[in-house]
Amino acid sequence: MFAEVALNIPLDRTFIYRVPEKASSKPQLGKRVIVPFGKSDFLKTGIIVSLKEKIEDINETYIKEIFDIPDNFSLFTENNIELAREIAKRYASSLGEVLFLFLPSGFVIEETSYIYLKREDHVKGKIEKQIVDYLKKKKGKVKLISLSRAIKGKSVYSTVKNLIRKGIVGKEEDITYTLLPTQKFAVLNEIKPVKGKKEIKALEILKSAKELPVKTLKEMGISYDTIKRLSAKGIIRIEEREHLVNVKKQALTDNRKIILTANQKKALNEIMTSKDETFLLYGVTGSGKMEVYLHAALETVKRGKSVLILVPELLLTPELRARVENYFGENIVVFHSKLSKKELVSQWLKAVKGKSKVFMGTRMSLMLPIKDLGLIIVDEEQDTSYKEQQKPLYHAREMAVKRGNIEKCPVILVSATPSVESYYRASIGKYKALELKKRISNIPLPYIKVVDLKEEKRVGIFSESLISAIKNTVKKGEQVLLFINRRGFFSSGFCPKCGFVAECEDCAVPLVYHKNMNKLICHICGKKYSPIYRCPECGTKLEFKGYGTERVEEEVKVLFPEFRTIRLDQDSVRNPTKGAKLISDIKNGKYDIIVGTQIASKGHNFPKLTLVAVLMADTGYLLPDFRSAERTFQTIVHTTGRAGRFKPGAAIVQAFDPENPAVKYAAEYKFDLFYKEEIEAREIFNYPPFSYPVVLEFQIEKTSKFRKVEDKFNILKEKIKPYFNVPPLNPAPIPKISGRYRFITFMRAANENDLLKGVDILKKEMPILFRGIRYKIDVDPVYL
Ligand code: ADP
Ligand code: ZN
Repeated sequence: MFAEVALNIPLDRTFIYRVPEKASSKPQLGKRVIVPFGKSDFLKTGIIVSLKEKIEDINETYIKEIFDIPDNFSLFTENNIELAREIAKRYASSLGEVLFLFLPSGFVIEETSYIYLKREDHVKGKIEKQIVDYLKKKKGKVKLISLSRAIKGKSVYSTVKNLIRKGIVGKEEDITYTLLPTQKFAVLNEIKPVKGKKEIKALEILKSAKELPVKTLKEMGISYDTIKRLSAKGIIRIEEREHLVNVKKQALTDNRKIILTANQKKALNEIMTSKDETFLLYGVTGSGKMEVYLHAALETVKRGKSVLILVPELLLTPELRARVENYFGENIVVFHSKLSKKELVSQWLKAVKGKSKVFMGTRMSLMLPIKDLGLIIVDEEQDTSYKEQQKPLYHAREMAVKRGNIEKCPVILVSATPSVESYYRASIGKYKALELKKRISNIPLPYIKVVDLKEEKRVGIFSESLISAIKNTVKKGEQVLLFINRRGFFSSGFCPKCGFVAECEDCAVPLVYHKNMNKLICHICGKKYSPIYRCPECGTKLEFKGYGTERVEEEVKVLFPEFRTIRLDQDSVRNPTKGAKLISDIKNGKYDIIVGTQIASKGHNFPKLTLVAVLMADTGYLLPDFRSAERTFQTIVHTTGRAGRFKPGAAIVQAFDPENPAVKYAAEYKFDLFYKEEIEAREIFNYPPFSYPVVLEFQIEKTSKFRKVEDKFNILKEKIKPYFNVPPLNPAPIPKISGRYRFITFMRAANENDLLKGVDILKKEMPILFRGIRYKIDVDPVYL
C-alpha cells in the first residue's frame, strides 16, 4: 500500500511513500507519519492525505518507506483535509503548509542529527576541509543544523553525506517523539503487609481509592520515593496514562435563565430548520444576537452534534467564556494563541477524541478536527483579526462558510455592523438575513452627538461639548471612555520650516513618540529611536502633530486634575495579570475617565460607563484603503455602543467632516442607508463584493533591483491577464518595511472561477520566475 503524505514545505505537491509492513499503528487518512525526506533522509513529520493500493507514473523502486505511524488516531478528519485543499487552492499554498499551520507544533516530531569526526585522512576539496576543521574546532558532537549555518554553501549536506560514506564523519540521530500529555497513576496490585509509617499511610489511601494520580498522592504528603518503593515490592504499579490538560478558567458569574423574545425565537427557528445554509444574524449591540446563537448551539448539542464558535482575538474574554459556560458547563474547549504548547496539544486531542461538543476560539480554531460538526458560528464576523497575516494568508470567515458547506451544516455570521461583503450577500439572498431590530432591555441606544472639529471651539482635541459632558458624567459618579485609534503620544515630529518628518529609516512611516519610554517608536516594525526636538535638516524646533492615547491621557489629566484617569491600550495590558487587574479596577469604579484604543471598545462590559467619545472619528487611518469608510462606520458603532449598557448613556463623535456618510449614518443609526451608499460606491469602483482582489507584493533591498522585478512581472502579467485586471507595480502605502522596499499591484478577478484559475497560475509560475525574490500572494486582502 502507498500513502500520499503532505509535508510542511512550500513546494506545491505531496509525496508518495510506501506503507511499511510493521509500524506502531495502522495507516489511516489524517494520521501523522514520520518519513525520511530529502537527500540526507532526515526524518520529518507528515500527514497522510490519501491512501492508494497502486500508483502510476512513478517508478516504485524509488519510493521511500514511511519510518513510523506513531498514533492510533487521526489528527485531521477527512473533511479537514478537504477544507485544507480548498484553502491551499484559494490562498496559493501547499496542502502541507495549510495542515501544519493549524496543527499545534507539539505534534511535530523533530529529528536532531549530530555529526562527529572519526578520522582526518582522505579529506578532499574546500568544503570537506571546512567541515572537518569546524568539527575539530568544536570537538565532540555537533548539531548538523548548526554546521549548515556555520558553513554556507549549497553542497554542505551532500558533502557531509560523502564524508560519512568515507568513514571520516559519524552521524547520530536523536528523535524526539512529541510527548502526548500524560499523567502518572499509582494503581493498587495486591495488598501485602508493609512496614514504615509512610508506606502504611500510602497503602491506607490506596486501599480505599484503588488508584490515584501520583500528583494527588504527593499533595497528600506521599513522596514519589515511597510510591516507587511500594511499586518495587509489587504492591502497586505505576502507570503512565494519557492526560488532557485542563486549561485554567475563571469562575462563573452569570446564571440567569433566558426566555427568548418572539423575534429571537423566529431567528432560532430558521437556523434550526436549516440544513446547510449560511445566515447573517445582525442587529444593534444588545439586541440579543448572542443569546440566539447560544440557543442554536445548545439545540445542536442536544441533537448530538458539535459546535464551533469562532471569535476575534480581543473578544475571547473571561466574560464571554463565562456566558458560553453558562449554557454548556465547564466542558467547553477553548483554543487560542495564548495557550501553552502542551495545552494546545491537549485541546486538539479533545477534538480528536470527542471529549467535548463545544469548541470556542480564534481563527486558528477553524481546522479543529471536530467530528459531527452541526453548527459553525462566526461572532463579530466583520473583525479584521479573522484574516491570517502569515502564509497561508487565509480568511477564517470565508473559510468557515466553506467548512459549513463541506460539513453540510449551517453557519451563522454574527455582527452589529456586518462586513459590506456579507451584508451584500445577505441582501441578494446568497446568505439568509436574520435581523434583530431592537435592543432587548428598555435602555435606549445612546444618543450620539456629532461635533464638527472645524467649527466648534476646543482645547486641543477636546471640544466644548465634550468637556462639559465629561464634567457632568463624572459628577454623577459615572464613567467616560475617550476613544482614540492610536497608542503612543504624538504621531510625528514635523519641521514647520522645511517639512522634515521624523520617520522610521526602515519603514518610511512617521514615528510615534511614546512619552513613558521617552522613545520614538515605529508602529510597523517596532524599532525604537531616541527622541529629537530640532530638525536635523535646518535646526528649527520641531512641532508635534497628531494624538495617541498617551497624549490624550496627559491632556485629560491637565484639563481634569480632580478626576481619576487611566489608559487602556496594548501597552497597558501587555502584562496579563496587570491587565486583568486594570480591567477589574475599571469595573469597580476606581477610575472616572478611561482613555483607550480598540481594546477598550471590545469584549468588556463596564457597568458604570455612560459616556463614550470618539475623539477623531474620520482620521487615524494611516493607510488609504477601499475599506476605510466601512472601518470608520464600524468603529463609531462599536465604540459608542459601549455606552449605557446598564443605564441610559450618550456618545459624542468628533469629526473633521461630519457629513461623511460613515459618520453621519452611524450617528443617526441609519445603518441601511450606510450600506446602501457603500455598496453603490463599491459597485461603481469595482471593489469587493463586486470583484475578487489579489494583492501581489514584492520586497527588495535595493531600488535598483526594481527593473528586474518589473521585467519578470510583465512576463507574469501576460499569463494571468485572462483572469485578472492587472495594474502596474507601485510602491505600497507603507513603502518600506524593515529595510525592504515594497511594491504592490492590486489585481482583481471578475468572479470566483477566474480567481481560482488565476491563483493556480500564480502558484505555478511565481516560484520559478521570482526565485530569490521575496514576494507574497495575498488573496482576499484585508490590509494593503
Ligand atoms: P448582542 O449579542 O446582540 O449584543 P446579547 O445576546 O448579548 O446581545 O444580549 C444583550 C443582553 O440582553 C445580555 O445581557 C443578554 O443576556 C440579555 N438578553 C438577550 N436576550 C434576552 C431575553 N430574551 N431575555 C432576557 N434577557 C436577554
Ligand atoms: Zn520601522
